[in-house]
Amino acid sequence: MYNCPNCNQPTISVWQKFCTGPLSYTECRNCGFRISVPILKYAVSILPLLIGIILAGEVVHPIVLRFVALVLCLVVSVVILMKWVPLITK
Ligand SMILES: [Zn+2]
Repeated sequence: MYNCPNCNQPTISVWQKFCTGPLSYTECRNCGFRISVPILKYAVSILPLLIGIILAGEVVHPIVLRFVALVLCLVVSVVILMKWVPLITK
């Protein structure tokens, strides 16, 4: 669970944070505030995934390595999103 940036209670689930982007929001179950993520840090967090998509598209051979590159980049993106991108009030 993640703490709400408004009431500081652990009310935001991992899945809620994963599904929240800079253009969407989730609501705190305690205080009802809208919670989002900052757009610049979110953009940094999805960069590895974009690189993985490019690598999987044409750069890496054979196809098994394309899949491995894509999965590794996806994992890096998710870790950055969950550990480094903060929750903010919207
Ligand atoms: Zn709250």
